[in-house]
Amino acid sequence: MIIEMRTGAAKKEVDDVVQKAKSLDLGVQLNVGTDKTVVAILGSNTGQIATDIFAILPGVENVTRIMKPYKLASRAFRHKDTIVDCGGIKIGGEKIIVMAGPCAVESEKQLMQAAEAVKKAGASILRGGAFKPRTSPFSFQGLQKEGLELLAKARKEFGMPIVTEVVNPQDVSLVSSYADILQIGSRNMQNFALLTEAGKSQHPVVLKRGFSCTITEWLTAADYLLAEGNHQVILCERGIRTFEDSVRFSLDISAIPVLKKNSHLPVNVDPSHAAGNYTLVPAIAKAAVAAGADGLLIEVHPNPKEALVDGFQSLSTSDFTRLMNELRVIAKAVGRSI
Ligand code: PEP
Ligand code: MN
Repeated sequence: MIIEMRTGAAKKEVDDVVQKAKSLDLGVQLNVGTDKTVVAILGSNTGQIATDIFAILPGVENVTRIMKPYKLASRAFRHKDTIVDCGGIKIGGEKIIVMAGPCAVESEKQLMQAAEAVKKAGASILRGGAFKPRTSPFSFQGLQKEGLELLAKARKEFGMPIVTEVVNPQDVSLVSSYADILQIGSRNMQNFALLTEAGKSQHPVVLKRGFSCTITEWLTAADYLLAEGNHQVILCERGIRTFEDSVRFSLDISAIPVLKKNSHLPVNVDPSHAAGNYTLVPAIAKAAVAAGADGLLIEVHPNPKEALVDGFQSLSTSDFTRLMNELRVIAKAVGRSI
């Protein structure tokens, strides 16, 4: 249930709404806007509670039931776009933020070369996996803590915030002590224990779409992060499983406008895991920017042929530089910058 308070409603009026909800054993989240406060009433039994209980309270303008399963991620709760602030880099604003770097951190040399090149080409955030969620237990699982240390070194050297994946709830505090942004991967989108821990960390989180999940399931998963009071959530479309096998996953381009309509959260696109093929990455990245993405997550490797993970979908540093120049033109055409 969403309760919109009147413009200029007194704090006492908001407090009375909160108290009423608590007396009914319901959860509450507040969105205190500059002119209006919106109160989300949460709980499995809100369906049994008459809206009038709240509608009659002083200062309440409007009470609506949210019929969708996601609440806090919905535009009904927050009309204005959320802008995630990562050390001054704003994700969800006018500038399209590019996060780029290798799939996995492999060595100091590889990471530093990648970082230097992506920064020079205009990326704002360095990506690199230290904990890799591999389909096979026999594949390279990442350098783990050593990888995090190398990422921290690259951040210091190049002045770029870092985004890196966390794959299990016990590692959230370790990864948070190094990362500026936590990434929750496609395979973990519905790992609710992990979502709750990442929510508690209060770190910005990139939440990738589960490749077999609907947009509704994805936004409902985002609610797990938001329910912990962590509003720094960035969604990332990375392709879904369809019958089409000419690409690794089918990028759901329509997810971008659908999310923009139904949610206030910023939307990133990862063309690399969707394409699975470096030759297709530029076209998909450009399409994403044209369709309104707020950011991109792109795999770049100084020597893709030697990459331990996802080499075939990784751009070389020169291909990435060329793509960034092309993206600037597209961004300008849709009223953004990059
Ligand atoms: C990744 O970004 O390297 C990754 C594993 O992505 P996804 O979770 O989308 O497969
Ligand atoms: Mn990868």
